[in-house]
Amino acid sequence: MAGPTAVAEPAQARAAHEGILRRQSARESAARTYARALPIVPVRARGLTIEGADGRRYLDCLSGAGTLALGHNHPVVLEAIRKVLDSGAPLHVLDLATPVKDAFITELFRTLPGGLADHARVQFCGPAGTDAVEAAFKLVRAATGRNGILAFAGAYHGMTSGALEASGDAFDVRVARLPYPQDYRCPFGVGGPHGAELAARWTQSLLDDPKSGVPLPAGMILEPVQGEGGVLPAPDEWMRRMRRITADRSVPLIADEVQTGVGRTGAFWAVEHSGITPDVMVLSKAIGGSLPLAVVVYRDDLDVWEPGAHAGTFRGNQLAMAAGTATMAYVRENDLTARAATLGARMLQQLRSLAREFPVIGDVRGRGLMIGIELVEAEGEGVGERAEGEGPAGPLGTAGFGSSGGASASVVPGTIPSPRPASPELAAAVQQECLRRGLIVELGGRHASVIRLLPPLTITDEQTTAVLDRLADAVAAVAGSHGPAGERQRQRRRRNRGEGMG
Ligand code: PMP
Repeated sequence: MAGPTAVAEPAQARAAHEGILRRQSARESAARTYARALPIVPVRARGLTIEGADGRRYLDCLSGAGTLALGHNHPVVLEAIRKVLDSGAPLHVLDLATPVKDAFITELFRTLPGGLADHARVQFCGPAGTDAVEAAFKLVRAATGRNGILAFAGAYHGMTSGALEASGDAFDVRVARLPYPQDYRCPFGVGGPHGAELAARWTQSLLDDPKSGVPLPAGMILEPVQGEGGVLPAPDEWMRRMRRITADRSVPLIADEVQTGVGRTGAFWAVEHSGITPDVMVLSKAIGGSLPLAVVVYRDDLDVWEPGAHAGTFRGNQLAMAAGTATMAYVRENDLTARAATLGARMLQQLRSLAREFPVIGDVRGRGLMIGIELVEAEGEGVGERAEGEGPAGPLGTAGFGSSGGASASVVPGTIPSPRPASPELAAAVQQECLRRGLIVELGGRHASVIRLLPPLTITDEQTTAVLDRLADAVAAVAGSHGPAGERQRQRRRRNRGEGMG
């Protein structure tokens, strides 16, 4: 990627880079997010690599928050965009039919889960994932005549009001909140299949108890892997339970595949792992091949909308449709889903070895190339305080506890192991150390304590090694200064200086 910036005087490039960052913080909203933790100024990008205005290069495992299935500027994506530009086709046509859109729908329908593909309808929404979530809620409310939505703790569905209501930090809502299964911080303290079973029973009893305070809802929305919630893959059996519970009660099931779609988790759509067919799918991010595009796909018998019931100006982005068609076709033709599955499994294995080395890594989890590494305080509570017989008795250690290395405490009879406190500080420190080493990673999770890896599905073996090496160095640097060894060193230094305890 040599170019003007690469050959510019380093001091000049540095000044330009700093000037842009200075103007950004002076002029852009206080709500800016990634820009705070990642003070870089991308000027060129290809595949996994981004080059900043200061000439520095980074390996990008943020991938536009999971948007770039093929990495930056993949040749097939650029070619598809150029083809539309060179053809003289209109770039913006509301929801009119075009050959570009026709090809997009054909490619999209080709990938859909079997039970949906033959009876599917697609609605093009405003261009963001959150627009498709709003459309899905509106659709199921119209189709069922009911109002409430079931959503899960830790969910993230977007930033518009309905999507926000269904997300984990909502307030003042028409949404009933259900437990999402998770091993490491299982709300029932058991994790594994038993924890998932308890979560499913809670859902079922809420729906069947006439006095639960939750009337029959218009729909249930779930992420097959919670992304922003901390990379929590739902067990397949739990997904099948949710499908049965909703189907038996005629509650439409909405799968939010905004982040998990297009091969990311090792299946083209993450619902395929469990074999379920949702009634509605919400899709965005990778389906636009790096340009803004969102759709809701649903079974045709839910299509009760009157003409114009759901409109919006920007539903006809031809460049995004062309880029998306090229991306989906490339993933399918090159079996990048299988690649994501095997590479993801290998990365998890290597990260779990790292967790055994560094107690600050509490948990490593993920599915395919959607990976989370939870940072916890190096010392502290490792065993829950619940007395024998108080909590739900479960198969301790069936999953999660003990399987993930660092945070697993030995199980004391009569107590239930619980993980050490999440450490957003350590996670932020690891993110910064990664950046210093030229690696861009995302932070997420309930406590912002989870390092998230969302590399493109095209990442090579060599690049994977480079990513994991840099990450391991970053963790070592942080653990060295924050962990027990680092703390002991600091105490020794304090004693030598005559400071400290008394
Ligand atoms: N659903 C999920 C599962 C997401 O991860 C996101 C974005 N991270 C959204 C919805 C919202 O998408 P957008 O930011 O494009 O509105």
